[in-house]
Amino acid sequence: MDDSKFGKKDARGNWVPSARISYGPFFSWPPQATALREWLFGFPGYFLPWNVLYAVLAIVIWQFLTPSLTDFSADTGYWVGVILARNVVLALLVYGGWHLWFYVWRKQGTAFKYNSKWPRQDSSAFLFNNQNADNIFWTLVSGVPIWTAYETLLLWAYANGHIALLSFADQPVAFILLFFLVPLIHEVGFYFAHRSLHWPPLYKIAHKLHHRNTNPGPWSGLSMHPIEHVIYFSSVLLFLVIPAHPIHMINLASRLGLAPAQGHTGFDRAVTGEDKSMDISYYAHYLHHKYFEVNYADGMVPLDKWFGSFHDGSPESHAAMKSRIAERHR
Ligand SMILES: [Zn+2]
Ligand SMILES: [Zn+2]
Repeated sequence: MDDSKFGKKDARGNWVPSARISYGPFFSWPPQATALREWLFGFPGYFLPWNVLYAVLAIVIWQFLTPSLTDFSADTGYWVGVILARNVVLALLVYGGWHLWFYVWRKQGTAFKYNSKWPRQDSSAFLFNNQNADNIFWTLVSGVPIWTAYETLLLWAYANGHIALLSFADQPVAFILLFFLVPLIHEVGFYFAHRSLHWPPLYKIAHKLHHRNTNPGPWSGLSMHPIEHVIYFSSVLLFLVIPAHPIHMINLASRLGLAPAQGHTGFDRAVTGEDKSMDISYYAHYLHHKYFEVNYADGMVPLDKWFGSFHDGSPESHAAMKSRIAERHR
């Protein structure tokens, strides 16, 4: 398994990608038509594979794993229980799947692994002295129930006519467009939620818990304090004001619930065959876990660039980060 084509290992054996973290051409000026086309339709690109995959997942969840709005309003309590169970199963499959691949079966050893060490399983910083057990606990005991609470609150509001419902038959173009706006809503919502969590008082009581994972694995993704879960999932409340279909809300909610798994694998890509690798790169967020004060967003909208907290992985970015910190402590 050759990870040296895409980066190199440093003295400690940590794999560092050679490409700098960059934003897609979506926000560059003047517009670059070819680059934009490739960024949108290439593989990996804006649509494929992940955004299309999450959209398909939302369709499957809505069609087969969610009650109709009439059923939901007739027996809300029962259906909340069913949706909670469904979300627990989804979390086990997705977080568990990534974890099995990389950390139990160790399918690719430390190839493409940002931190050469395996997460510690004997650290008193974590519940049960075990990072993974701690991460699973916060995900299933707090994360999934709060995700379910938001999702079912919104379903209740749709079912009882408290919010506008957009149908495919009436507005097909808006319906499809909204699907592909969800990733943007997700990213911008995440940036502001995350930025507020780094406000010292909130950091101390809530976000610190997530940041104990300096060497994250998939289960670290949703391992957060309940206060952080409440803030993190709150971007679904946007659907109280944006006319949409429950399928769009489910797209955002399930993405918030499941995407942190791939965002925290600790690997740059999953090697799936001889020379075939699947891009799961979240180096920006890995650097956030390593240095705390950089890359609050995931890297599609250049929010960190605009607000001066961008670290693209280069020595220059690193020096800039250090001088920002020194400046603040002066
Ligand atoms: Zn994180
Ligand atoms: Zn953070």
